[in-house]
Amino acid sequence: MEKSKGMIETENRQGIEKIDEVADGIYHVIYPDDRKLGLAMIRFAEFYESPHFQGRNFTFQDYARWYLANSQGGQKKGKFTYYDDWPGFNLPSRTLEPFYNGEFDPLRRGELELLDSFRHKRGEKFYIIASSQEATPDLIRHEIAHGLFDMREGYQREVLRVLKEERRSGNPAPDRLRNYLLNMAGGVGYAADKLLDEEQAYLVAYDDILADGLDTPDMRKIHDRLMPIFDRFFITKE
Ligand SMILES: [Zn+2]
Repeated sequence: MEKSKGMIETENRQGIEKIDEVADGIYHVIYPDDRKLGLAMIRFAEFYESPHFQGRNFTFQDYARWYLANSQGGQKKGKFTYYDDWPGFNLPSRTLEPFYNGEFDPLRRGELELLDSFRHKRGEKFYIIASSQEATPDLIRHEIAHGLFDMREGYQREVLRVLKEERRSGNPAPDRLRNYLLNMAGGVGYAADKLLDEEQAYLVAYDDILADGLDTPDMRKIHDRLMPIFDRFFITKE
C-alpha cells in the first residue's frame, strides 16, 4: 500500500502543537511537554552544540549512554535527566541539512515531524527555537536571544561589544557566568564555540540566573546594558 502524504504526517507526529514566527525568520516550535520536546530535539541540538557530539554522527542510544555516564543526574541518581535539564532549544536552519541528507538515518519520529514541518523552507536561512507549553516567558526570551544573535548581525555586534568592554574593564561577572555554564548539569551542555552566545542569552533572560544564585551588582550591570539592545532588535511579528 502506498502511503498518502497525510498518513506519513500522522505517523510522524511527536505532537508539535504549533509553530509561531515570533520575529522575522525566527520560528518557535511548541510541544505539549518537556519529554516530547527533548525527544524530538535531542539529536538536532546536540549535533549543533554538544561538547562531545558537536558535528558528529550519533544515534539516540549513543547520546543517552554518554549522558548517563557524564551528566550530574546520571552520575548522582543513575537517571537520564535530559528532559528536566534542558527545557528550551535553539538551532539555526543549517543544522537540519545533514538530517535531510540522510546522514542521521534512521530518523526518529519526532525528528521526521520537525523536518517535515520545515521542508518547504529547505535551503533558506532561518532559526528555530523550541519549548513546551510549560516554558516560562524568561526561557522563551533566552531562546529568542539566540535567534537574534544568529539572525541579526547588528544585535550580535552590539552584545559582543558590551561583553568585551565589561571583561576588559575588569568586571569578573562574564567569566563567572562562563564557568557556571561550563559546569552546568555536570558539564554536558555546551561546546566551547557556543559560550559567548550562551552568555548573552543568559544575561538577557536574567531570572534563570537569579534562581541559581549568580545575581551580583556586576552581573546585573551587564544585564542592564543588554536589555535595551534586545528590546531594540526584538520586533514581534504581527
Ligand atoms: Zn541557551
